[in-house]
Amino acid sequence: MSPRIAIIGAGFGGLCMAIQLERAGITSYTVFEKADRVGGTWRDNTYPGAGCDIPSHLYSYSFEKYASWSRRYPGQPEILAYMDHCADKYGVRRKIRFGADVTDARFHHDRWRLTFHEGTSRQRADFDVLVTSVGQLNLPKFPEIPGMEEFAGTTFHSARWNHAHDLSGRRVAVIGNGSSAAQFIPAVAERAAHLDVFQRTPNWVIPKPDAAFGPLTRLALHFVPGLQRAYREWIYRYAEGTLYPALAMGWSQGLLKKRALDHLRAQVPDADLRAKLTPAYPPGCKRVVIDSRFYPALTRANVDVVTDPIVRVTAKGVETTEGLREADTIIYGTGFRTTEFLAPITITGRAGRRLNEQWAGGAEAYLGISVPSFPNLFLLYGPNTNLGHNSIIFMLECQVNHVMNCLPHLSARGPMEVRPEAMTAWRGQLDAAMSRMVWGNGCQSWYKTAEGRVTNNWPGPTPLYRRLTALPPVRAYRFG
Ligand code: NAP
Repeated sequence: MSPRIAIIGAGFGGLCMAIQLERAGITSYTVFEKADRVGGTWRDNTYPGAGCDIPSHLYSYSFEKYASWSRRYPGQPEILAYMDHCADKYGVRRKIRFGADVTDARFHHDRWRLTFHEGTSRQRADFDVLVTSVGQLNLPKFPEIPGMEEFAGTTFHSARWNHAHDLSGRRVAVIGNGSSAAQFIPAVAERAAHLDVFQRTPNWVIPKPDAAFGPLTRLALHFVPGLQRAYREWIYRYAEGTLYPALAMGWSQGLLKKRALDHLRAQVPDADLRAKLTPAYPPGCKRVVIDSRFYPALTRANVDVVTDPIVRVTAKGVETTEGLREADTIIYGTGFRTTEFLAPITITGRAGRRLNEQWAGGAEAYLGISVPSFPNLFLLYGPNTNLGHNSIIFMLECQVNHVMNCLPHLSARGPMEVRPEAMTAWRGQLDAAMSRMVWGNGCQSWYKTAEGRVTNNWPGPTPLYRRLTALPPVRAYRFG
């Protein structure tokens, strides 16, 4: 008999899990999705200019060739449409419980008991296996700046864009300048009467070589046998071969820096502004911004880059050490509570162990997937599986592959739990690899905890991750 499987989240990871189960003929699963449609981060982030800086022929499932990409780097609506297409084509939508918000999962008598809210009702259901796929960028983070609640104008976060609020003629303050802000600032700058961009730390920015596909290219990519696969492979190898060594402080670190500095010089003629925008840490320590429209927006006459430290927010705007910058709209491009992972769900494993307590020193999981004392729990996009250089969809497919390899074992031998010694060995390997990476080097970022432990990123090359997740799982797990 097939195990009953609960999947939490209908973003790229949850959909991938559901699709692979369907393809394997396993239909005894339910996807719990608290929102009213699929898409995860691509449903939530609708800000103007939202898109992916990994080309979609790679930022898509390897098994689902798609004819509709209009350009190299399509925007959020196209990516969301692709996810809808996959949910429909593989017949998984019927298995998604929309509006079902899981708040509690408890392992008891070899079963996972889920508590979830659906509308006003609170319900329970039992499953053999729990797969969580809630993302790392799903909890918007607001800064803790004194006086924020006193602001008299309109405020919103980039991941909860207020489309009803017309920015035309407004005085807008944007706090933050990461990948999200870099994408929406050009659109805001075009509409606002004045825009202040509050920058605490500059980012390294490299150009985004975007281009629309002409009709012939689209036809060729669709009909020429092997062409789309070859193009995908080329993007993958290019990212792996050039960007990964930069993050590992290897041969391309200097080239990446040069590319970013050339881009800055080419797009920002003003030397004072260039100085403000030049980071003092190695590229890659924070996520490199890949964008060709961000710098030109900052050079507009109606835009100021403000680097004076913010002191407080008042009813009238944002006060810095140099005085008040008036605003009627504040947009927080301040990122996500990335190191909390599954925190909103109370997850209790064997012997009453709480996942949040076990992770008090920072989240960790074997392969980013399995946690000791939490049998039959599998995490997708879990700790140390984020990338700064390649497609997360690749990583998700590796994780789903691992779960699929585990399912026959647990069906035959009972609940499976990663061995503590496998976890210890994994931790040691991660730590050794992490020491070579650029993320520890002179910056704070969403990749790590306040104490400086990198809990989000995978420190190795992605082919290695594929190999490790494809290994027969039996030796790392115990059963029963
Ligand atoms: P982020 O990279 O975490 O950036 C947050 C920004 O807010 C930073 O500039 C940060 O400054 C600033 N900030 C936070 N608290 C502040 C405070 N108290 N005062 C002043 N500034 C403050 O968040 P994000 O831009 O939303 O991007 C998150 C991730 O989403 C990206 O790194 C990327 O992985 C993903 N993303 C990807 C794409 C894509 O194209 N693939 C697009 C958008 C987002 P500091 O740097 O000084 O901390």
